[in-house]
Amino acid sequence: MEIIEDPKEFQRICFADRCGGLATALVPTMGFFHDGHLALMEWARENANKVYVSLFVNPAQFGPAEDFESYPRDMERDTLLAEMAGVDVLFAPRPEDIYGPGHATVVDAPALAEYLCGASRPGHFKGVCTVVAILLNLALPTYAVFGEKDRQQLAIVKRMARDLHLPAEIVGRPTVREADGLAMSSRNVYLTSVERAQAWHIQEGLRRAREQVERGEDKADEIERDLMNYYRDNIPEGVVDYVQVVDGETMRPIKKIKPGAVAAAAVSLGKARLIDNITLTPGKSG
Ligand code: AMP
Repeated sequence: MEIIEDPKEFQRICFADRCGGLATALVPTMGFFHDGHLALMEWARENANKVYVSLFVNPAQFGPAEDFESYPRDMERDTLLAEMAGVDVLFAPRPEDIYGPGHATVVDAPALAEYLCGASRPGHFKGVCTVVAILLNLALPTYAVFGEKDRQQLAIVKRMARDLHLPAEIVGRPTVREADGLAMSSRNVYLTSVERAQAWHIQEGLRRAREQVERGEDKADEIERDLMNYYRDNIPEGVVDYVQVVDGETMRPIKKIKPGAVAAAAVSLGKARLIDNITLTPGKSG
């Protein structure tokens, strides 16, 4: 596995790969790998001739009061895991390699960032879009692979790629979970044992919301109210940032459940702000 810091060198390799007719896949990450990251790499390994993983804790997507400085990092372990996952190139630039002096250009899709994490983390998706656009321009991949855990991010990146006619196919992959249902996240290391014991209820509440919809409930506000109550009762240490039912493509709230609806939640548990979501299928078993 090659480890590359310099964007120009990374671009040269990727350009040669693509011109050479290889199918290539990029997995953008912020590192501190868990099985969710590894599942994306596995998909890439199975579907492309060459796999690139970027490891970049992107300062532009963190707010001033957020955890950029303390975000977990372990380059040595990540290198080992990427190597074991069959990654060909690990691209690990420094912030100054990505954002040169006088960097002034941003990419944004504000219409999809008005709700959910876009509302609670102003500027977050501008930082995400900008760095993903940069990474896609460097890697020129056939596929770029993202996790459904970050559902709004996936929707925004898909829209950006479509709007900007980027040549990469954006691939979304299912959320990998702990045995009790908690979505894997690098931020789970922040949880104390008391918080960890409550964290699985985030997914459990969403699962109950899905069942409620399958039984015939079609009003988004009923689902949201019940989910909020469930969290209040079962995650006493948590502070609910949002629970919201949205259209899975536009990421905007809907009133009546329809195919493609998504229930999304963000809950802060101590130092960790955890997000999760579930697809709702109206009246499936009802
Ligand atoms: P991150 O390093 O947290 O920025 O995540 C890098 C990529 O991995 C993003 O596309 C995430 O959506 C994806 N990802 C994070 N956690 C999971 C998970 N539990 N299952 C699947 N994909 C994930």
